[in-house]
Amino acid sequence: MHPADLEEFYKVLESIASSLEKLNQNISALVGVQSQIVAQLAQIKGGVLAQAEPPKPSEDQEKHMISKYKGTCILCGKRIQVGDPIIYSKDKGARHEHCPP
Ligand SMILES: [Zn+2]
Repeated sequence: MHPADLEEFYKVLESIASSLEKLNQNISALVGVQSQIVAQLAQIKGGVLAQAEPPKPSEDQEKHMISKYKGTCILCGKRIQVGDPIIYSKDKGARHEHCPP
C-alpha cells in the first residue's frame, strides 16, 4: 500500500471513529429522553388511573331508624311522626321507610 493511500486510510478511520463517538453521544441523549418520556407516561398513567378510581363511598350512609323527631319526608312531603320508621341521611334528610310506597 502506498504511504499516501495509508495516510488517507487513517483519515477515513479517524473520521469514522469521530462519527461513531457522535453517534454514541446521540444515543446517550436519546436514552435520556426515553427515560424522561417513560417517567412522564408513568405520571400520566397514574393520573388517569387516579381519575378513573370510583368515588369513595359516601360516609353519609342512609340509616334505617325510628324517628326521634317530627319532620317532613323528603319524598312525599308528608309529616314524619315520632316513632315512625324512617330512612335517615345526614345530607338528604329523612324519608318514610317505605316511601314511596
Ligand atoms: Zn314519605
